[in-house]
Amino acid sequence: MQEIRDNITNISHNIRDICIRTGKDPDSITIIAVTKTIDPDRINYAVECGIQNIGENKVQEIMAKYENIEGNVKWHLIGHLQTNKVKYIIDKVELIHSVDSISLAEEISRRAEKAGLVRNVLVQVNVAQEDTKFGIDYEETESFVKQLSQLSGIRVKGLMTIAPYYEDTELVRPVFRRLKEKYDSLAEADIINVEMKYLSMGMTNDYKVAIEEGSNMVRVGTGIFGARNYNI
Ligand SMILES: *Cc1c(COP(=O)(O)O)cnc(C)c1O
Repeated sequence: MQEIRDNITNISHNIRDICIRTGKDPDSITIIAVTKTIDPDRINYAVECGIQNIGENKVQEIMAKYENIEGNVKWHLIGHLQTNKVKYIIDKVELIHSVDSISLAEEISRRAEKAGLVRNVLVQVNVAQEDTKFGIDYEETESFVKQLSQLSGIRVKGLMTIAPYYEDTELVRPVFRRLKEKYDSLAEADIINVEMKYLSMGMTNDYKVAIEEGSNMVRVGTGIFGARNYNI
């Protein structure tokens, strides 16, 4: 458990250092602890260590852990979301990072309205055009965001991407830079009901580069909890 505390401290220090060096406010960066495969005891410990945002990529795991996490945490759905599962998490998650189809956005909007809510979402963009990744095409981002702006049960609050994995993180820098450009241009476009508030990019391997390139929301799993064991 102590490692979890040390890891969180290290990451916070790294983020602070980058922010000081690049003239950003360290408090403007949200760390999302990615808790997939992690048991509630360890998650609760991370929360005791100061984690306030947790990210899961499966609806099932949110459902299984939801009641067991203590403290005032915000849940983020960061993985691919199937339309038929929206109803289970609509009242549980603060932010859905993975909106990449109109039908999904419509279902989130419909379920949110039914629950008397307006749900914040991010649009997932497949910047590097990898076949293996979800997300809309980069070039479609603006028209997609405009379509989402018509849905009254959701608010678009920014963009998210999962970058390709490179050992040498310098190789991923252009991916982050491109998404930041899109984020800035959408902010400038000033679309009604749309706010560019969160740019969710960067994971354990590349969060430093992501922050340098303008991310304000990093999703860190392994870097906090250690290697995941998918067999438990
Ligand atoms: C698992 C996951 C992460 C965290 O990955 P690490 O490399 O363990 O930090 C971040 N984002 C998404 C969407 C994930 O599924």
